[in-house]
Amino acid sequence: LKASNSLSHSLQAKMSRPVQARRLEGIDKNIWVEFVKLAATYSKVNLGQGFPDFPAPDFLTEAFSRALSGGNHMLHQYTRAFGHPPLVKVLAQFFEKLLGRDLDPMTNVMVTVGAYQALFCCFQALVDEGDEVIIIEPFFDCYEPMVKMAGGTPVFVPLRPNPPKDGKLMSSADWQLDPAELASKFSERTKAIVLNSPNNPLGKVFSREELGLIAELCVKHDVLCISDEVYEWLVYDGKQHIRMASLQGMWDRTVIIGSAGKTFSATGWKVGWVVGPDRLLKHVRTVHQNSVYHCATIAQEAVAQGFQRELMLYGKPESYFVQLPKELQQKRDWLVRSLDGVGMKPIIPEGTYFLVADISQFKSDVPDVPNSDEPYDQRFAKWMVKNKGLAAIPLSAFYSEAHKNNYNNFIRFCFAKEEATLKAANDILQKWKQEKTSS
Ligand code: PMP
Repeated sequence: LKASNSLSHSLQAKMSRPVQARRLEGIDKNIWVEFVKLAATYSKVNLGQGFPDFPAPDFLTEAFSRALSGGNHMLHQYTRAFGHPPLVKVLAQFFEKLLGRDLDPMTNVMVTVGAYQALFCCFQALVDEGDEVIIIEPFFDCYEPMVKMAGGTPVFVPLRPNPPKDGKLMSSADWQLDPAELASKFSERTKAIVLNSPNNPLGKVFSREELGLIAELCVKHDVLCISDEVYEWLVYDGKQHIRMASLQGMWDRTVIIGSAGKTFSATGWKVGWVVGPDRLLKHVRTVHQNSVYHCATIAQEAVAQGFQRELMLYGKPESYFVQLPKELQQKRDWLVRSLDGVGMKPIIPEGTYFLVADISQFKSDVPDVPNSDEPYDQRFAKWMVKNKGLAAIPLSAFYSEAHKNNYNNFIRFCFAKEEATLKAANDILQKWKQEKTSS
């Protein structure tokens, strides 16, 4: 008995050792896991997670079908690790046009499992223990844990809202960096800055002046730029998406991240890419070859054909990259009117398919709990999906822990949805508003 006791003791002692790696500390929570589950359980209308509920374009799905059963059985096998040759070739051609410089498809382009894996590879390849990485708040939430997993320290700088004085609706352009505050975040420890333009969740499209300011600081402090441009084609009102890599001195220090999921309304395909100078991409390839190694061949083949079509139709009215923003702008305007009509004041986005709205006028339905650990907007969004069947994402999800309570009166809606979905959302909001006024 004694012997077996001491055996179980030593087994317990062994098992009390943490099983997880230290780099996972504090990054186990993920807002999407929680809110996707809530939406699946309760929502009648889901304007939460960012994906279209309308079909991907026919030319793309037909390309997939052809790749699947068109007779080239080798498309069912491995292809080149860093990207299926037809895809890297057409991406290089496309980005040559956009950036006005020659690109080598084999060294300046790499294909990834969505933009998510592209981001992961870049952080792992370029950020070292002790490095600081500047992140502009609000930000696509995965940047923070990815920097931490690479051993780096995120340093946050906020976009600050300047409410319009004339009683007009706020625009995402009213959220701006304070130049002195931004400059104060750069030091010899700064390795990189993450730029996301057009920005998720606000829909802000950074102007040439704003990008110029960031570029100047990057050059001055020898800092890299991880430029997440997954919404590059989704800009409205004649605005132009300006590519950081096209600014003076920035090509050599920028990795551009893109997503076929966002570009072609096919988020489930998970095809993404990194474009940049070989001096950076060779290290990004090292991470890729030692982790994922290879992405699904058929999806890459179909995306390549999608880009070949878009290259041919570049700038023409039939181009999907011209048509999609046109359609989405109408959806944006529709949702803006719908939200404004019920007093959930929208911030008009200049780009992306997201819209942030102010919930202050609805707060009486979901009273605040003083000293609660949970940001108010998060409780509000949970209450809304459970009680009204409408799913949205709290804005605090896009802030670091320390700043989550700075802006907690907002929720984010995705408007890449069928007309019927947006109408159903409007019906819920109208009914809710009526109940409020009659009670
Ligand atoms: N970056 C941003 C800013 C995003 O919004 C998303 C998706 N929501 C991604 C990257 C990830 O893109 P993908 O689905 O291609 O992995």
